[in-house]
Amino acid sequence: MDKSWIDEKDRFSSKYTAGVESFIQFSRKNIVEFDNKILCPNWLGYTKIDACKYDCALFWKENENENFCPVCKISLDS
Ligand SMILES: [Zn+2]
Repeated sequence: MDKSWIDEKDRFSSKYTAGVESFIQFSRKNIVEFDNKILCPNWLGYTKIDACKYDCALFWKENENENFCPVCKISLDS
């Protein structure tokens, strides 16, 4: 993975922002692969939120009590 953007002096340059963007996507993909959970900061601290294994939806807010992904309909427990 290209990390040369980290040394970029100008933090508003397109190279830097594109680097940050791809890094976030990279880490997010790996979190889902290894645990299928995403940590979400809220005012209570950190709450674990279930996510669809295909990463199309998070089970929170109106989906919090659903057992199936609202997008691809796969079971949360599968
Ligand atoms: Zn899904």
